[in-house]
Amino acid sequence: MRLKDKTAVVTGAASGIGKAIAIRLAEEGAAVVVADITETPREGGQTTVATIVAAGGQAVFHSCDVTRNDDLETAVARAVEIGGRLDIMVNNAAIGTDTPLHETSEQDWDRVMAVNAKGVFLGCRAAVRRMLDQELIGEVRGRIVNISSQHGMIRAPNDFDYGVGKAAVVYMTRQIAGDYAEHGIVCNAVAPGKILTGKTGRAIAPEMLAYSQSRTPWPRLGRPADVANAVLFLASDEASYIIGENLMVDGGWMAN
Ligand code: NAP
Repeated sequence: MRLKDKTAVVTGAASGIGKAIAIRLAEEGAAVVVADITETPREGGQTTVATIVAAGGQAVFHSCDVTRNDDLETAVARAVEIGGRLDIMVNNAAIGTDTPLHETSEQDWDRVMAVNAKGVFLGCRAAVRRMLDQELIGEVRGRIVNISSQHGMIRAPNDFDYGVGKAAVVYMTRQIAGDYAEHGIVCNAVAPGKILTGKTGRAIAPEMLAYSQSRTPWPRLGRPADVANAVLFLASDEASYIIGENLMVDGGWMAN
Protein backbone atom coordinates (compact mmCIF):
# COMPACT_ATOMS: atom_id res chain seq x y z
CA MET A 1 0.00 0.00 0.00
CA ARG A 2 2.60 2.49 -1.13
CA LEU A 3 -0.07 5.09 -1.98
CA LYS A 4 -2.30 4.71 1.07
CA ASP A 5 -4.38 7.88 1.66
CA LYS A 6 -3.22 9.45 -1.64
CA THR A 7 -5.53 10.79 -4.33
CA ALA A 8 -4.74 10.67 -8.02
CA VAL A 9 -6.15 11.86 -11.34
CA VAL A 10 -5.30 9.78 -14.42
CA THR A 11 -6.35 11.14 -17.82
CA GLY A 12 -7.23 8.79 -20.67
CA ALA A 13 -7.73 6.11 -18.03
CA ALA A 14 -10.61 4.22 -19.67
CA SER A 15 -8.32 2.14 -21.89
CA GLY A 16 -4.89 0.72 -22.47
CA ILE A 17 -1.97 2.19 -20.56
CA GLY A 18 -4.10 4.71 -18.67
CA LYS A 19 -6.37 1.94 -17.42
CA ALA A 20 -3.37 -0.10 -16.24
CA ILE A 21 -1.97 2.97 -14.46
CA ALA A 22 -5.26 3.70 -12.68
CA ILE A 23 -5.56 0.05 -11.58
CA ARG A 24 -1.95 -0.09 -10.36
CA LEU A 25 -2.23 3.14 -8.36
CA ALA A 26 -5.49 1.92 -6.81
CA GLU A 27 -3.92 -1.44 -5.93
CA GLU A 28 -1.40 0.50 -3.88
CA GLY A 29 -4.14 2.36 -2.01
CA ALA A 30 -4.73 5.55 -4.01
CA ALA A 31 -8.24 6.87 -4.61
CA VAL A 32 -8.30 7.42 -8.37
CA VAL A 33 -10.28 9.84 -10.53
CA VAL A 34 -10.57 8.10 -13.90
CA ALA A 35 -10.69 11.08 -16.29
CA ASP A 36 -11.58 10.25 -19.88
CA ILE A 37 -13.95 11.20 -22.69
CA THR A 38 -15.43 7.70 -22.52
CA GLU A 39 -15.83 4.95 -19.92
CA THR A 40 -15.69 2.18 -22.54
CA PRO A 41 -12.34 0.37 -22.74
CA ARG A 42 -11.06 0.12 -26.32
CA GLU A 43 -9.87 -3.39 -25.62
CA GLY A 44 -13.27 -4.49 -24.23
CA GLY A 45 -14.01 -5.90 -20.79
CA GLN A 46 -14.94 -4.18 -17.54
CA THR A 47 -14.56 -0.46 -17.09
CA THR A 48 -11.61 0.85 -15.12
CA VAL A 49 -13.80 1.91 -12.20
CA ALA A 50 -15.61 -1.46 -12.09
CA THR A 51 -12.28 -3.29 -12.14
CA ILE A 52 -10.86 -1.21 -9.31
CA VAL A 53 -14.00 -1.35 -7.16
CA ALA A 54 -14.34 -5.13 -7.67
CA ALA A 55 -10.81 -5.50 -6.30
CA GLY A 56 -11.71 -3.45 -3.22
CA GLY A 57 -10.15 -0.18 -4.40
CA GLN A 58 -11.52 3.34 -4.68
CA ALA A 59 -12.21 5.04 -8.03
CA VAL A 60 -14.71 7.38 -9.69
CA PHE A 61 -15.24 8.18 -13.35
CA HIS A 62 -15.04 11.83 -14.36
CA SER A 63 -16.04 12.80 -17.88
CA CYS A 64 -13.04 14.81 -19.06
CA ASP A 65 -11.86 16.04 -22.42
CA VAL A 66 -8.27 17.14 -21.80
CA THR A 67 -8.59 19.88 -24.42
CA ARG A 68 -11.02 21.64 -22.05
CA ASN A 69 -9.61 23.47 -19.06
CA ASP A 70 -12.86 23.23 -17.08
CA ASP A 71 -12.86 19.44 -17.38
CA LEU A 72 -9.35 19.21 -15.94
CA GLU A 73 -10.00 21.69 -13.16
CA THR A 74 -13.12 19.77 -12.12
CA ALA A 75 -11.19 16.47 -12.29
CA VAL A 76 -8.68 17.93 -9.83
CA ALA A 77 -11.57 19.25 -7.70
CA ARG A 78 -13.06 15.72 -7.57
CA ALA A 79 -9.77 14.38 -6.22
CA VAL A 80 -9.72 17.14 -3.60
CA GLU A 81 -13.33 16.37 -2.62
CA ILE A 82 -12.39 12.73 -2.08
CA GLY A 83 -9.06 13.06 -0.31
CA GLY A 84 -8.68 16.71 0.66
CA ARG A 85 -5.75 17.16 -1.75
CA LEU A 86 -4.32 16.12 -5.12
CA ASP A 87 -1.25 13.99 -4.54
CA ILE A 88 -0.71 12.56 -8.03
CA MET A 89 -1.56 13.84 -11.52
CA VAL A 90 -0.95 11.50 -14.46
CA ASN A 91 -1.31 13.15 -17.88
CA ASN A 92 -1.73 10.13 -20.14
CA ALA A 93 -4.43 10.89 -22.76
CA ALA A 94 -3.11 11.20 -26.31
CA ILE A 95 -4.18 10.64 -29.90
CA GLY A 96 -2.46 10.37 -33.27
CA THR A 97 -3.32 10.63 -36.94
CA ASP A 98 -0.63 8.28 -38.29
CA THR A 99 0.24 10.68 -41.09
CA PRO A 100 3.50 11.93 -42.57
CA LEU A 101 3.99 15.70 -42.83
CA HIS A 102 2.67 16.07 -46.39
CA GLU A 103 -0.57 14.26 -45.54
CA THR A 104 -1.15 16.08 -42.24
CA SER A 105 -3.99 18.56 -42.56
CA GLU A 106 -4.23 21.67 -40.41
CA GLN A 107 -7.22 20.07 -38.72
CA ASP A 108 -5.15 16.96 -37.91
CA TRP A 109 -2.38 19.14 -36.48
CA ASP A 110 -4.79 21.24 -34.40
CA ARG A 111 -6.59 18.17 -33.04
CA VAL A 112 -3.42 16.29 -32.08
CA MET A 113 -1.78 19.37 -30.55
CA ALA A 114 -4.99 20.12 -28.63
CA VAL A 115 -4.90 16.70 -26.93
CA ASN A 116 -1.20 15.77 -26.81
CA ALA A 117 0.36 19.16 -26.06
CA LYS A 118 -2.35 21.55 -24.82
CA GLY A 119 -4.03 18.75 -22.85
CA VAL A 120 -0.80 18.12 -20.93
CA PHE A 121 -0.26 21.86 -20.41
CA LEU A 122 -3.78 22.21 -18.98
CA GLY A 123 -3.44 19.06 -16.86
CA CYS A 124 -0.10 20.18 -15.42
CA ARG A 125 -1.40 23.69 -14.83
CA ALA A 126 -4.52 22.52 -12.99
CA ALA A 127 -2.37 20.20 -10.88
CA VAL A 128 0.32 22.78 -10.08
CA ARG A 129 -2.27 25.43 -9.15
CA ARG A 130 -3.82 23.03 -6.66
CA MET A 131 -0.53 21.61 -5.35
CA LEU A 132 0.91 25.07 -4.66
CA ASP A 133 -1.94 25.60 -2.18
CA GLN A 134 -1.51 22.37 -0.24
CA GLU A 135 0.81 21.49 2.62
CA LEU A 136 4.05 19.58 2.17
CA ILE A 137 3.97 15.93 3.19
CA GLY A 138 7.61 15.22 3.95
CA GLU A 139 9.42 17.02 1.12
CA VAL A 140 6.62 16.86 -1.41
CA ARG A 141 3.47 18.87 -2.14
CA GLY A 142 2.45 16.72 -5.11
CA ARG A 143 3.72 14.62 -7.98
CA ILE A 144 3.06 14.89 -11.72
CA VAL A 145 3.82 12.01 -14.07
CA ASN A 146 3.40 12.76 -17.78
CA ILE A 147 3.30 10.02 -20.39
CA SER A 148 5.67 10.92 -23.20
CA SER A 149 7.13 8.46 -25.71
CA GLN A 150 10.39 7.44 -27.28
CA HIS A 151 8.83 9.24 -30.24
CA GLY A 152 9.16 12.55 -28.41
CA MET A 153 12.93 12.10 -28.55
CA ILE A 154 13.51 10.46 -31.90
CA ARG A 155 11.41 10.62 -35.04
CA ALA A 156 8.02 8.89 -35.14
CA PRO A 157 8.12 7.33 -38.60
CA ASN A 158 5.36 8.90 -40.72
CA ASP A 159 3.50 10.12 -37.65
CA PHE A 160 4.47 13.78 -37.69
CA ASP A 161 1.97 15.54 -35.41
CA TYR A 162 2.11 12.78 -32.78
CA GLY A 163 5.89 13.00 -32.51
CA VAL A 164 5.88 16.79 -32.26
CA GLY A 165 3.23 16.63 -29.54
CA LYS A 166 5.26 14.08 -27.59
CA ALA A 167 8.39 16.23 -27.90
CA ALA A 168 6.35 18.99 -26.26
CA VAL A 169 5.57 16.63 -23.36
CA VAL A 170 9.27 15.82 -22.91
CA TYR A 171 10.07 19.54 -22.84
CA MET A 172 7.17 20.51 -20.54
CA THR A 173 8.22 17.82 -18.07
CA ARG A 174 11.70 19.28 -17.70
CA GLN A 175 10.50 22.88 -17.57
CA ILE A 176 7.80 22.22 -14.97
CA ALA A 177 10.18 20.04 -12.95
CA GLY A 178 12.76 22.81 -12.80
CA ASP A 179 10.34 25.66 -12.19
CA TYR A 180 8.43 24.01 -9.34
CA ALA A 181 11.05 21.89 -7.57
CA GLU A 182 11.58 24.66 -5.02
CA HIS A 183 7.87 24.40 -4.18
CA GLY A 184 8.03 20.66 -3.54
CA ILE A 185 6.22 19.72 -6.75
CA VAL A 186 7.87 16.74 -8.44
CA CYS A 187 7.41 16.39 -12.19
CA ASN A 188 8.68 13.43 -14.21
CA ALA A 189 7.60 11.46 -17.27
CA VAL A 190 7.47 7.87 -18.37
CA ALA A 191 8.34 7.27 -22.01
CA PRO A 192 6.86 4.01 -23.25
CA GLY A 193 8.25 2.17 -26.25
CA LYS A 194 5.89 -0.05 -28.22
CA ILE A 195 3.12 -1.20 -25.89
CA LEU A 196 0.35 -3.55 -27.02
CA THR A 197 -3.02 -2.00 -26.10
CA GLY A 198 -6.48 -2.09 -27.66
CA LYS A 199 -5.39 0.20 -30.48
CA THR A 200 -6.39 -0.84 -33.97
CA GLY A 201 -5.30 0.10 -37.50
CA ARG A 202 -1.71 1.03 -38.31
CA ALA A 203 -0.62 0.61 -34.66
CA ILE A 204 -1.04 -3.16 -34.95
CA ALA A 205 -0.38 -3.67 -38.66
CA PRO A 206 1.97 -6.66 -39.06
CA GLU A 207 4.70 -4.50 -40.64
CA MET A 208 4.51 -1.99 -37.76
CA LEU A 209 4.72 -4.74 -35.14
CA ALA A 210 7.68 -6.27 -36.99
CA TYR A 211 9.35 -2.84 -37.19
CA SER A 212 8.78 -2.27 -33.45
CA GLN A 213 10.19 -5.66 -32.52
CA SER A 214 13.20 -5.07 -34.77
CA ARG A 215 13.90 -1.87 -32.79
CA THR A 216 13.34 -3.56 -29.41
CA PRO A 217 16.20 -5.65 -28.00
CA TRP A 218 13.99 -7.25 -25.33
CA PRO A 219 12.33 -10.30 -26.91
CA ARG A 220 8.75 -9.07 -26.58
CA LEU A 221 6.79 -5.86 -27.04
CA GLY A 222 5.56 -3.91 -24.02
CA ARG A 223 2.55 -4.47 -21.81
CA PRO A 224 0.49 -1.70 -20.18
CA ALA A 225 1.56 -3.08 -16.78
CA ASP A 226 5.23 -2.39 -17.66
CA VAL A 227 4.40 1.31 -17.94
CA ALA A 228 2.06 1.30 -14.94
CA ASN A 229 4.80 -0.04 -12.66
CA ALA A 230 7.13 2.78 -13.69
CA VAL A 231 4.40 5.37 -13.12
CA LEU A 232 3.73 3.86 -9.68
CA PHE A 233 7.40 4.27 -8.81
CA LEU A 234 7.51 7.92 -9.91
CA ALA A 235 4.20 8.59 -8.13
CA SER A 236 5.51 7.16 -4.86
CA ASP A 237 7.91 8.49 -2.23
CA GLU A 238 10.42 5.86 -3.34
CA ALA A 239 11.23 8.24 -6.20
CA SER A 240 13.19 10.82 -4.20
CA TYR A 241 15.58 13.37 -5.75
CA ILE A 242 14.38 12.33 -9.24
CA ILE A 243 13.31 15.51 -11.02
CA GLY A 244 12.53 16.14 -14.71
CA GLU A 245 13.35 12.58 -15.74
CA ASN A 246 11.86 10.93 -18.84
CA LEU A 247 12.05 7.31 -17.76
CA MET A 248 12.22 4.97 -20.75
CA VAL A 249 10.06 1.84 -20.52
CA ASP A 250 10.87 0.63 -24.00
CA GLY A 251 12.56 -2.77 -23.87
CA GLY A 252 15.80 -1.04 -24.84
CA TRP A 253 14.53 0.75 -27.98
CA MET A 254 16.46 3.93 -27.15
CA ALA A 255 19.56 1.98 -26.18
CA ASN A 256 19.62 0.28 -29.53
P1 NAP B 1 -5.29 4.34 -26.08
O1 NAP B 1 -5.46 2.86 -25.94
O2 NAP B 1 -5.72 5.00 -27.35
O3 NAP B 1 -6.01 5.05 -24.84
C1 NAP B 1 -6.05 6.43 -24.77
C2 NAP B 1 -7.26 6.83 -23.95
O4 NAP B 1 -7.33 8.27 -23.96
C3 NAP B 1 -8.56 6.32 -24.54
O5 NAP B 1 -9.45 5.94 -23.49
C4 NAP B 1 -9.09 7.55 -25.27
O6 NAP B 1 -10.49 7.55 -25.46
C5 NAP B 1 -8.65 8.64 -24.32
N1 NAP B 1 -8.70 9.97 -24.92
C6 NAP B 1 -8.56 10.31 -26.24
N2 NAP B 1 -8.72 11.62 -26.39
C7 NAP B 1 -8.98 12.14 -25.16
C8 NAP B 1 -9.25 13.43 -24.67
N3 NAP B 1 -9.34 14.49 -25.50
N4 NAP B 1 -9.48 13.61 -23.35
C9 NAP B 1 -9.44 12.56 -22.50
N5 NAP B 1 -9.19 11.30 -22.91
C10 NAP B 1 -8.96 11.09 -24.22
O7 NAP B 1 -3.76 4.77 -25.90
P2 NAP B 1 -2.53 4.00 -25.20
O8 NAP B 1 -1.84 3.19 -26.21
O9 NAP B 1 -2.99 3.39 -23.93
O10 NAP B 1 -1.58 5.24 -24.90
C11 NAP B 1 -1.59 5.91 -23.65
C12 NAP B 1 -0.44 6.89 -23.60
O11 NAP B 1 0.79 6.20 -23.83
C13 NAP B 1 -0.49 8.00 -24.64
O12 NAP B 1 0.02 9.18 -24.09
C14 NAP B 1 0.43 7.48 -25.72
O13 NAP B 1 0.96 8.52 -26.52
C15 NAP B 1 1.50 6.84 -24.88
N6 NAP B 1 2.30 5.86 -25.62
C16 NAP B 1 1.73 4.72 -26.06
C17 NAP B 1 2.51 3.81 -26.75
C18 NAP B 1 1.95 2.51 -27.26
O14 NAP B 1 2.71 1.78 -27.94
N7 NAP B 1 0.72 2.17 -26.97
C19 NAP B 1 3.86 4.11 -27.01
C20 NAP B 1 4.40 5.29 -26.53
C21 NAP B 1 3.60 6.17 -25.82
P3 NAP B 1 -11.07 6.92 -26.87
O15 NAP B 1 -10.86 5.44 -26.77
O16 NAP B 1 -12.51 7.33 -26.88
O17 NAP B 1 -10.25 7.57 -27.96
